[in-house]
Amino acid sequence: MRILRGLTSRLLPCGCIAGIYETYDGEVVSLLDDRQPGCDNPEHANGNQIPELTTAPRPRSNEQASGQK
Ligand SMILES: [Zn+2]
Repeated sequence: MRILRGLTSRLLPCGCIAGIYETYDGEVVSLLDDRQPGCDNPEHANGNQIPELTTAPRPRSNEQASGQK
């Protein structure tokens, strides 16, 4: 998997930060960018894919991450 560009980033409920990336295949993937030291989810290691972020069509809250710098 090769990353074409970053689209946005997302603050997870546990405090970790995930980045949403587009790959050269046109696929959109989420990778954990910054692990929160207090997070106890073993899946949340830096660089891990976070599939639930890309399978959900829209965030549950109405926070809009795009447009922010
Ligand atoms: Zn986490």
